[in-house]
Amino acid sequence: MSKIAAIEVIPIIGPTPAADDLDGTTDTVIVRLTDEAGRTGIGETDAPPHVVKAFLEMPTAHLWSRNAAEILIGADPLEASGLWQKLYEGTFWPGRRGLGIHAISAIDIALYDLAGKQHGVPAYKLMGGARRDKLRPYCTIFPGLAHGRSIEELMTEIGRQFDAALESGFRAVKMEVLFYDLVTDRELVSLIKRGRKMLGDGILMAVDFGYRWQNWHDALYVLHRVEDCDIFFAEATLQHDDLEGHARLAERSPIRIGGAEAAATRWEIHEWLTRGKVGIVQPNIGRGGGLTEIRRIADLCELHGAEVVPHGWKTGITSAVGRHFQAACGPAPVFEYVSPKVFDSLLRRELVSPEPAVVDGFMALPDRPGLGIDLNEELVERLRADRR
Ligand code: MG
Repeated sequence: MSKIAAIEVIPIIGPTPAADDLDGTTDTVIVRLTDEAGRTGIGETDAPPHVVKAFLEMPTAHLWSRNAAEILIGADPLEASGLWQKLYEGTFWPGRRGLGIHAISAIDIALYDLAGKQHGVPAYKLMGGARRDKLRPYCTIFPGLAHGRSIEELMTEIGRQFDAALESGFRAVKMEVLFYDLVTDRELVSLIKRGRKMLGDGILMAVDFGYRWQNWHDALYVLHRVEDCDIFFAEATLQHDDLEGHARLAERSPIRIGGAEAAATRWEIHEWLTRGKVGIVQPNIGRGGGLTEIRRIADLCELHGAEVVPHGWKTGITSAVGRHFQAACGPAPVFEYVSPKVFDSLLRRELVSPEPAVVDGFMALPDRPGLGIDLNEELVERLRADRR
């Protein structure tokens, strides 16, 4: 056993900020753990980089508000679940469900990467081993917000991305229809039908509505009218915290209702399942508690007849984490995948490598130790925001 010797929190800010759009790949914050032998493990979270760094480097105030390094230095990275609990209890006062859990998630992921490298096994084996023999990612299709473009221009871009996804080997996609006031609900129905026609039958299709509606009646109006489009799940229909609305919608919708992409920990997901009654929960692994917690969430879903389809719109670290998650978790039909061949982003394309192939809709199980990715150190040095 080689103990953890150092923790480094690295904020990365890319050259093209997205202040007026919803692209989460323009920045990240990496947690890098180093053991006594000099091996490293990395994780990332999708949260404000400088704030995560401040949170993880804060001095200890008392037992419920502790410095993360004090908990981690000298620990065995193989004990991810035990360390998760120490970190949770040690940051319970300022953390618990929001940014504190996002920060812990990055550490948890780095622990699996480091322990996997120490023991020469892929991270999913440390999660209990494979529950399937190949992986099924879905490719998110996002033309960006309108910014003055017409709906026809947005649909043209969606069509281009559909083609790029299918050409790259994907057989499952999610159409983002974040059109908001650009279209009426009636027009939205015909655009979704057009999307299905563009894809053809046989391609798994989900739809993300980007929190379009304030009440479940309006959402139900559209979902009833696209019932014949064979949509796997409807994401972000209602406002995120409207769990009663989600329950009413889920009980009546002909299409499975998803949600909880901003939720953290099994405790919050439990509320989504019991009060919100959704059939798909979509926590981000790098925000909801890491690989340790997503395993527990998957087990919880099994008891509720639900499935977990994690949100993931970040760099290749998050994409790699999704692969190990799906390998090790049962009720996990697909996982979100930002393809660098479909969506252009410097950090997604170049921060880590290698990028696995998608063949006929599937990826092979990871076979390299840990997360199985190498960090682009030159890019990190160029874009790290704590040394400028
Ligand atoms: Mg979403």
